Amino acid sequence: MSTVLVINSGSSSIKYQLVDTVGGEALASGIVERIGEAAGSIKHSFAGTTTSRTDPIADHGVGLRAVLDLFRELGPDLQEVGIAAVGHRVVHGGSVFDGPAIVTDEVIAQIDALSPLAPLHNPPNITGIRVARELLPDVPHVVVFDTAFFRTLPEAAATYAIDAEVAREHGIRRYGFHGTSHQFVSQQVAQILGRRPQDLNQIVLHLGNGASASAVRGGVAVETSMGLTPLEGLVMGTRSGDIDPAVLIHLQRNAGMSVDEIDDLLNRRSGLKGLSGENDFRTLHDLVAAGDAEASLALDVYLHRLRKYIGAYFAVLGRVDVVVFTAGVGENDDIVRARALADLESLGIAVDLEKNEGRIREPRVISPEWATTTVMVVPTNEELAIAQQAVDLIGVVDDAADLGHA
Ligand code: AMP
Repeated sequence: MSTVLVINSGSSSIKYQLVDTVGGEALASGIVERIGEAAGSIKHSFAGTTTSRTDPIADHGVGLRAVLDLFRELGPDLQEVGIAAVGHRVVHGGSVFDGPAIVTDEVIAQIDALSPLAPLHNPPNITGIRVARELLPDVPHVVVFDTAFFRTLPEAAATYAIDAEVAREHGIRRYGFHGTSHQFVSQQVAQILGRRPQDLNQIVLHLGNGASASAVRGGVAVETSMGLTPLEGLVMGTRSGDIDPAVLIHLQRNAGMSVDEIDDLLNRRSGLKGLSGENDFRTLHDLVAAGDAEASLALDVYLHRLRKYIGAYFAVLGRVDVVVFTAGVGENDDIVRARALADLESLGIAVDLEKNEGRIREPRVISPEWATTTVMVVPTNEELAIAQQAVDLIGVVDDAADLGHA
């Protein structure tokens, strides 16, 4: 069996996808939204048709039960398909998890213990796992962590330069996020180029509404831009990314802002949106073209930060074989790709404007022949990555069990 039901459970939503790991296709997908509100909704897509229902959805249990009913009613029938596992996306695996894990009560308790590090994400992830285990008790459940790929960061990259005792006591270190995507894309790159991952040094740029960069040496992550939380690093849709920590102190002391207000400012009222009122690149480019000065500055700040990280990761890696763009902006925005790598010919890096043009839906090299660093666009697929990791883990466990019986 190779089909996995992938679940991404948020505070008021459940996204799901039924993934065939052999063909690499989504057989069906959907989203339950506004859980706990007066008007909930479910969208279920299968065989080219999307069905929408609006109903109050009291909690995650009601939502997931409704999803399973839709699979029965509209297809594909999960019994007939036969799912190998349920794969759950979990945001924070802390220092505990360096790869996927089969869900047990103990694993749930460990994820729960990490909730202070991701208070908005881990608790709803756990709710999703609990209800899915109840409703689908006969299949293994596997958790895949956003942080796991970055467990290999060297201490020098993972350590904040603050009092070591305080850091230890509160788990303050750089964990990194979007790891499933960075891992998937860097592995895809090696496969597409017909090279062994251990022979390639890569800079991976995951540019979506959230954005992160990573440096991957020989298949192993050695640096990434997100830290204790997904707030550090690049300028994002609504998040500030890097900022002098004294700004927070200043705002609290002198502007009378509360911790919650500062949290809201940095996570939801900053980034492109904070600078220009717009966080979708399509609209942002239209505004720039119309001469909007704020939109133009927002784009400049975004690209300046991105280029700074690219330069820094050249220094981290020493030799860069591949720079790869992925996620909503990285895959679709040729202006961002071209400007991010403009005028770097002296580093052996360039973008061929013809190859770069437009939205890119299949993996593609966009650098000219002469460039010593290959620039690529590789669409990410976190659901497929989660499904593959779940199937691989179950395979390993089954093999170990077989050996045990032999
Ligand atoms: P993600 O978080 O990976 O889904 O990326 C979402 C972001 O991708 C949106 O906020 C847009 O800024 C960007 N995006 C999506 N489609 C396009 C497009 N055709 N051109 C430019 N940017 C796009």
